[in-house]
Amino acid sequence: MSSATVSTVRDFADLFGGADEPLGAVVDGAWAATGGGEIVVEDPATRLPLASVAEATDEDVDRAVASAHRAYRDVWRDLGGVRRAEILLAVADGIRRHADGLARLETYDTGKPLRQARSDVETAARYFAFYAGHADKIYGETIPGEGSYWTYTLREPYGVVAHVTPWNSPLSQMCRGVAPCLAAGNTVVVKPSEVTPLSSLAAARLFVEAGLPAGVCNVVAGYGATTGAALIAHPLVQHIGFTGSVATGRAILHGAAERIVGCNLELGGKSPTIVLPDADLEAAVTAGAIAVVRNAGQSCFATTRLIVHRSIAEEYGQRVAAAIGRLSVGPGIEDLDLGPVASEQQLRKVREAVAAGVAEGARLAVGGSRIEGLDGYFLSPAVLVDVRNDMRVAREEIFGPVQTVIPYDDVDEAVAIANDSSYGLAAGVFTRDVATAHRLARRLEAGQIQINRYPMGGVETPFGGYKQSGLGREKGLAALEHYTQLKTVIVAD
Ligand code: NAD
Repeated sequence: MSSATVSTVRDFADLFGGADEPLGAVVDGAWAATGGGEIVVEDPATRLPLASVAEATDEDVDRAVASAHRAYRDVWRDLGGVRRAEILLAVADGIRRHADGLARLETYDTGKPLRQARSDVETAARYFAFYAGHADKIYGETIPGEGSYWTYTLREPYGVVAHVTPWNSPLSQMCRGVAPCLAAGNTVVVKPSEVTPLSSLAAARLFVEAGLPAGVCNVVAGYGATTGAALIAHPLVQHIGFTGSVATGRAILHGAAERIVGCNLELGGKSPTIVLPDADLEAAVTAGAIAVVRNAGQSCFATTRLIVHRSIAEEYGQRVAAAIGRLSVGPGIEDLDLGPVASEQQLRKVREAVAAGVAEGARLAVGGSRIEGLDGYFLSPAVLVDVRNDMRVAREEIFGPVQTVIPYDDVDEAVAIANDSSYGLAAGVFTRDVATAHRLARRLEAGQIQINRYPMGGVETPFGGYKQSGLGREKGLAALEHYTQLKTVIVAD
């Protein structure tokens, strides 16, 4: 199937069974027509349309939330953890049964290489399997009283939770939020990014096919300022999970404050990695290169400030540039090292960032130009060396295939540079000295520390940001705490 001829509804009929174009929302387990304008979803590798999706209006959002609320009240809340676990395991199996189609769809929609999309789909299934294992183990504690009473606590769901997700890994990010929510007894309405809504719409229908009761997981597509804003402002939405930019996170937090509802925010990053002179340089070079390979650098978690001891910075920069210069770039469906970036806007942003770095005195060691002969949003991955932490390329999240090398002279300076950022999502340390590694892990202001390999971590490792990288934690058991509220019951003796 060549990219030029892909039509989502026709070529992915097993995923979109029964749907017409424009694709609508998934409400109450079925395709629902929506009343808004059409959004044309394009393939970033060809810039050709993949599908048109109808924008959900306020009334459509209201129907989706009402469906989630009914499913919560009538079915899901009181189903019991054991049965919920069985259903979530069936959903994991359902995702795996459709893994090939979902991965190809994700590749066409996001541009990412097929093997990365396959890995995202397996991660999506793993979220359901992991949280299925915990659905029947969510309980409170018994607290001895002061003689005349005793106390116990219950962990209860909130009700309807809204999830608003970005465009870089839409399916796995949807499942990262939805799986723990459902395990804890909540129901959900998901608003995927308008840039990449397809896998989320397909998944919601497949979940029902796998046995999830209708209404437990609904999806509305649309723009943030309209559909997204209507969803988070809906009075029946009792909690919000958001993944995206700091600016939108701030707007969502303001909205949540109006109604006093809780919010998990997974925001941006500018994650540093400190490379000490005694490091395994090969491993540190690999970390620098992988950061641009994964999703063409469009990953919140990518390490994009390589803070390297001056004695090895030149050699390190050259080796990272050589490794990145060897990477192959092309349509995701051809499964090379890097696909295109997600959109024209993203392409422009990345090119401007590289130009700003050079204008501020950084040296472009490799990459940074459009790939000739390809129509999509393709860029050769770039490495900037001799970067200072006060340059724009070191301060702003670029979210593209751009790596920066920042030299340092002593370890205190390295820590100061690493922490001199408004972000704090993750940080890396490369050293053969175990004590130094653990000391730096404590000193670095980030929600996750990677020692001697980067990236690492699975669905079981809590993830989230310090500072402006977010509030709360996703993944692991930590996520369950955010999707339950504690009730204390005090009983007279
Ligand atoms: P974005 O903030 O522009 O959009 C994210 C989502 O919010 C989209 O669905 C969008 O439609 C919606 N939205 C926008 N305005 C809204 C509003 N006023 N009300 C409700 N919803 C609204 O982010 P993006 O460009 O899609 O994604 C890139 C950003 O996401 C980067 O900053 C990246 O670091 C971050 N990100 C973070 C993580 C993480 O786990 N920490 C993961 C992936 C991406």
